Amino acid sequence: MSDSLEEYRKKRDFRRTGEPSGESGGGTAAKRAGREQGAGRGGQPLFVIQKHRARRLHYDFRIEVGGVLKSWAVPKGPSTDPRERRLAVPTEDHPMEYADFEGAIPEGEYGAGAVIVWDTGTYVNLKREGDRPVPMEECLERGRVEIRLNGKKLKGGYALIRTGKGWLLIKMKDENADARRNPTTTEPASVLSGRTLEEVAGSAGK
Ligand code: MN
Repeated sequence: MSDSLEEYRKKRDFRRTGEPSGESGGGTAAKRAGREQGAGRGGQPLFVIQKHRARRLHYDFRIEVGGVLKSWAVPKGPSTDPRERRLAVPTEDHPMEYADFEGAIPEGEYGAGAVIVWDTGTYVNLKREGDRPVPMEECLERGRVEIRLNGKKLKGGYALIRTGKGWLLIKMKDENADARRNPTTTEPASVLSGRTLEEVAGSAGK
């Protein structure tokens, strides 16, 4: 169990929230959690983007690294237009089980509000130096992550770059770049359940 989840657990009361503690046994998510890397299809690392209406609507961008989900909150969500630079605020590591969490976090709890899985899939680390693939931990430390997403809504290269003003999420220029697409608007529903954020919020307490 990774110590990097301490902050995640400290912020939450698992008797109240339906979010996973990252300590449970059983289920596919728990099986994933014990694995070093490659919880996604075909043993590749996974990514997930959760749409979350807390005090403010945002998209939580998470990538599997070293058995946890490294996370950023992206207020405007991801773009498919390489000219768009989306602010991405680093947040605490989340347990692997979080990757399929959808539900309404109750009032008074950290992050109160509805969560859906807006997109998910696997990713490939694109960062290389000569013949050497640069480990993701090193990319994070340097503040330069380049990955190719294979999601249902998002595909192709995305960069997460740390600048003097914080991190930015930017679509890389490739065959999947498309300035005319606007998937956060045109494809709002969950890729797991088909539900919208409003439907999940409305089912709270049931
Ligand atoms: Mn969030």
